[in-house]
Amino acid sequence: MQEITVRTRSHTDFVNIDGPVQKALDQAGLSEGVVHVFVPHTTAGITINENADPDVVADIQQVLERVVPWKGGYAHVEGNAAAHVKASMMGFSQTVLLRGGRLALGTWQSLYFCEFDGPRTRKVWVQAMAA
Ligand code: ZN
Repeated sequence: MQEITVRTRSHTDFVNIDGPVQKALDQAGLSEGVVHVFVPHTTAGITINENADPDVVADIQQVLERVVPWKGGYAHVEGNAAAHVKASMMGFSQTVLLRGGRLALGTWQSLYFCEFDGPRTRKVWVQAMAA
């Protein structure tokens, strides 16, 4: 398993992690297989979406904020319940196929680390398995 570090820049931040994940895969040296990318946090998640128009990521963040506002009369005393809810909505792992040693993403797709309680230094675990 490889671990990559993601430094988020703001309270809510979607960070394209294709580059560091690919770098981890390059070290693994596999050609064909399956890649699991896992976020070991409870207030950050991971998703796949469009990398061409940055408005897409901005729209996703805006909708999440509208559906799960920071202040919402939540029970969780730490005060960051919205971040926990949004992280669960995005999920904590993605599976991507490996083709010729490269992440087999669609033309417009990228992996986004989704920060909901930053800025922080975060971890992402990457495991490639031969198939
Ligand atoms: Zn909390």
